[in-house]
Amino acid sequence: MIFFKKNNTCCVCHKLFYSFQVKNFKQYPFCKKHYNIVSSKELFLIKSIRTNPQDPDTSVNAHEDQIKRYQSGEICFYMMEYEHSNEQLITIMNLYSTSNSNIK
Ligand SMILES: [Zn+2]
Repeated sequence: MIFFKKNNTCCVCHKLFYSFQVKNFKQYPFCKKHYNIVSSKELFLIKSIRTNPQDPDTSVNAHEDQIKRYQSGEICFYMMEYEHSNEQLITIMNLYSTSNSNIK
């Protein structure tokens, strides 16, 4: 039996979509509306945030910042990089935006 579940989250708006409603851009899922924007516009690296498993607040704050920016009209999303340092996995959250007027 085939059934569809809305379990694909757009990296910009965080709404849930069926798999046939999302498209991947640089291996990250986007709804069609945001795919069309991020794949056709210049992307600016706004900031890089280093997080580690001992410091979950940093990534929570980073996600809240992205959601706030989206709610105020900015199209932005994170792409992750991973790094090992002292046997610890460091996640670097790179925030990319279609606007470079809001770097802070
Ligand atoms: Zn979206």
